[in-house]
Amino acid sequence: MNYYQEEVECAPRGAIRGIQSERLSAVIRRVYDSVAPYRKKMDEKGVKPEDIKSADDLHKLPFTTKDDLKDAYPYGFLAVPLKDAVRIQSTSGTTGKRVVAFFTRHDLDIWEDCCARAVVAAGGTDEDVVQVSYGYGLFTGGPGLNGGSHRVGSLTLPMSSGNTERQLQFMCDLSATILCCTPSYAAFLAETIVAQGLRDQIKLKAGIFGAEAWSEEMRRDIEKTIGIKAYDIYGLTEISGPGVSFECSEQTGMHINEDHFIAEIIDPATGEVLPYGSKGEIVFTCITKDAFPLIRYRTRDICVLSAEPCSCGRTLAKMSRLMGRSDDMLIIRGVNVFPSQIEAALMSRGLSSNYQIIVDRVNHTDTFEVQVEMTPEMFSDTVSGVSAHEDELTAAMRSMLGISPKVRLVSPKSITRSEGKAVRVIDKRKI
Ligand SMILES: [Zn+2]
Repeated sequence: MNYYQEEVECAPRGAIRGIQSERLSAVIRRVYDSVAPYRKKMDEKGVKPEDIKSADDLHKLPFTTKDDLKDAYPYGFLAVPLKDAVRIQSTSGTTGKRVVAFFTRHDLDIWEDCCARAVVAAGGTDEDVVQVSYGYGLFTGGPGLNGGSHRVGSLTLPMSSGNTERQLQFMCDLSATILCCTPSYAAFLAETIVAQGLRDQIKLKAGIFGAEAWSEEMRRDIEKTIGIKAYDIYGLTEISGPGVSFECSEQTGMHINEDHFIAEIIDPATGEVLPYGSKGEIVFTCITKDAFPLIRYRTRDICVLSAEPCSCGRTLAKMSRLMGRSDDMLIIRGVNVFPSQIEAALMSRGLSSNYQIIVDRVNHTDTFEVQVEMTPEMFSDTVSGVSAHEDELTAAMRSMLGISPKVRLVSPKSITRSEGKAVRVIDKRKI
């Protein structure tokens, strides 16, 4: 099986645009009539549903932001009668109120189809054993890949995150072939597999890793450590969870499920729509969802869109891996710093992906420290050898970031491992 829904995944681009136009005008008419915040925003902008005749009119519509969702918490953006909604999922909500997203049965079907496309693109079939080690519950990772794996007919192990010993036991005993989890947990599992001498007992061939930004170097590291092909997957709870886009065997970006979501790249400062190939914030419009169809939702994720032909045969446009976020970007001594840049610098030097950025403010000046775990070879080095490594890394980061961090090499395995999203940044500044 090469594709899950070939008729859409490989459709001519013009046909996809036609489907998008038709679905967009219908969903705009519906949200204008049934979602008070959308009616208000459109009225304020002077846009009527009849102005949206095709996908080319998308730019006329107002954006939706996370703040809009928080203001209307919990039911303000619900577009169907409550009796028709059958599922709630929620964001991890690190600040303030969580975002709750609603699904009808139809919405769950769409979501599972999107994840099934990802599983098939990673080589999944009904012969596979898929170990889902994303968290279950309100988090979308577990339920999304679980549903996708069921659709494909794979044997699904709903492991959820954590309990690494049990993860590895089931992985070996049940011969799991595809692993789904966050990239940081995948890196941790890979390291543990090698440390426990289980490399020859695992049958994994592929991994579907998402829910946090990761670098190409980290991908190659995981692939090499346990001998798998590692695929990126993207999504967010507000839009439906994982499966908004997914990677194919070419590994040059994630195909967007454009029959369900229209993607745009905008300048995060001005909101202006940018052409394909430009780096900017990705914005999604849901065109098939019943319960929670967000319009021009500002993701804050920075990436690049491309509609170049792909060797896998899919015609769906691709988004690049995430290049940071427009809102959790660190500003240190006035300089913009993305944790992904630091990660790339470390991994390109064969260093561990286990690092932590610690920012503080002392005497009105920002301090910027990067703690990195030593490799076992470095750990046996002399003190002067270690400090030479630190100096070299500091210089490399200074030339890349335009700002000089204090690099501190710490003992192997001394940075706390994460079983969910890794904590890469500790910002102690009180601003
Ligand atoms: Zn492809």
